[in-house]
Amino acid sequence: MSDLTRRSFVGLATATAAGVMATSALASEAAAPEAAETLETEVLVVGIGASGFQCALGAAKLGAKVLAIDLAESMVGTTNITTSGYLCVGDKLQLEQPFHFEIPEIYTLINQLSNYCFNTQVLKALLEASSRSSNNMIDAGVTVGVVELPERIELTGPTLGQRCGHPYKISGQERADCFENALLAAGVEIRYGIEAKELIWEGDEIKGVRCEADGAIVDIMAGAICLCTGGFLGNEEMVAKYFAGSRIVPMGNKNCKGAGINMALSAGAQMGKSFSLSSNEYGGANFLASPTFAFRPGTGSNEALRFILLGSILVDSMGDRFVSEQIANKEAMHCAEPFIRAKTYYTVVDQDFIDYVSVTPLGQIMGDGRMKTMFAEVIAENIEEDFDEAIAEGWAAKADTIAELAEAFNLPNLEATVEQYNQYCDEGYDALFYNDPEFMHKLQTPPFYIVQSFPAGWLSLGGVKCDAKCHALDPDNRPIDKLYIAGADADLFCAPYIAGGSANGFAQASGLIAGESAAMALGYGA
Ligand SMILES: Cc1cc2nc3c(=O)[nH]c(=O)nc-3n(C[C@H](O)[C@H](O)[C@H](O)COP(=O)(O)OP(=O)(O)OC[C@H]3O[C@@H](n4cnc5c(N)ncnc54)[C@H](O)[C@@H]3O)c2cc1C
Repeated sequence: MSDLTRRSFVGLATATAAGVMATSALASEAAAPEAAETLETEVLVVGIGASGFQCALGAAKLGAKVLAIDLAESMVGTTNITTSGYLCVGDKLQLEQPFHFEIPEIYTLINQLSNYCFNTQVLKALLEASSRSSNNMIDAGVTVGVVELPERIELTGPTLGQRCGHPYKISGQERADCFENALLAAGVEIRYGIEAKELIWEGDEIKGVRCEADGAIVDIMAGAICLCTGGFLGNEEMVAKYFAGSRIVPMGNKNCKGAGINMALSAGAQMGKSFSLSSNEYGGANFLASPTFAFRPGTGSNEALRFILLGSILVDSMGDRFVSEQIANKEAMHCAEPFIRAKTYYTVVDQDFIDYVSVTPLGQIMGDGRMKTMFAEVIAENIEEDFDEAIAEGWAAKADTIAELAEAFNLPNLEATVEQYNQYCDEGYDALFYNDPEFMHKLQTPPFYIVQSFPAGWLSLGGVKCDAKCHALDPDNRPIDKLYIAGADADLFCAPYIAGGSANGFAQASGLIAGESAAMALGYGA
């Protein structure tokens, strides 16, 4: 929204009792309803996930009065209770190692890997803050694994997260207790089950956030507002808008519907231009596969879904191969872009392959090192039943000919694609994508199986432009007074997802920066 438009909105909204500015001109003409409850604080943190936790802690430690709110009913329902690990540079555990990496080399590596698509100003600040945010985790009692580094090793994109990261060692209630106790000890007031809806204005000034709890309006007046609501993957319209019409299955916290981003936009903030996805490890999912998409580990309970990663070929909605199956298998989490571009995609396998996977541990077939470990013992012994369930739900099919499969999902080029692929298999070389023969499986023994998938992921990458203090920026790149943005709500990340643990690590670091910046703007700290 331009500054001019926003001012005209402000003009329309001055008569409301609580000073609430409605987010549409139409709504602002009617008097805004009175709040059932009005709270006051110095720093309001909206969302207590990875960034919100650090944000609240950072502001409170500098002495500010902090209220942190989350739509979840308890800390256990917030996102960062189920995440696997985070990246950081130079925290106290890493400093104990004989060798540790330094910020300049990680900064240079990420810039090189991303062709400077990262917000480089912010990247430096994030890397510098990441040791302190990790120390906050450790001090909160969250036990994490340490990567032993006796000597220098070469860092690459895929190894960055493993070498500079910490896997969480506790989860669920135990991790939640650590977060909650640390916040309470720092003096943070916490409210769960409360949904931030829109900004409260008085004239041209942001005064707070209008929220809803148990159907009642709660106004929270604050000196500074930190928006940490975890991006927009749970909002289909926003996904379509920022991902070129795609549909993405949200595997993560469905509360993350872009509330923070939309509040910032309503204040005239500017959206960044770089969007991507931290995709799920299975390469895709389907909206129709009902029990599969819970916000908890155990996702992918129908093994047929994993065939998008394991199968012979990946084809788009025309039936053409669109990505190297070998790369997709080895780099599923970092390989979101071709899948987002394809929108809907399919894998095809034959009975030989089904027979093989029904007796072979999935870890042996998968290309990604982490997946190999996770699925080292898992055998898809019920795969035939899983396919029957998938067929009944409408996201898979089985037929005696490739032509019938093509018809089931309207894939006009599938037969020709399979014919060419089988020829490559006979020749032992995939001339289309230069694939290793290990990842090629000739499609020859009926019946044939097909699985339909959409991109699926844990969080959206890309959001509101911010400076190195995590201040939300207006179209002229000027900080918007009182408004800070962090984590997946902010335009921090490059496209694509650069390294395992970077989403969590940078969310935490940005939250810490936002909280400290907000407190300092109110006169706390040095
Ligand atoms: C199961 C899972 C595992 C993951 N594992 C990893 C991992 O190992 N490594 C990694 O780098 N990344 C991982 N991710 C990505 C992860 O989302 C980020 O690392 C990180 O949590 C993002 O932090 P955030 O603060 O931006 O958002 P979140 O941590 O998602 O926090 C946002 C919070 O805001 C709350 N909220 C949303 N809207 C509102 C509203 N209107 N009012 C009030 N509260 C609201 C939500 O309930 C949520 O608690 C994982 C994600 C999931 C879902």
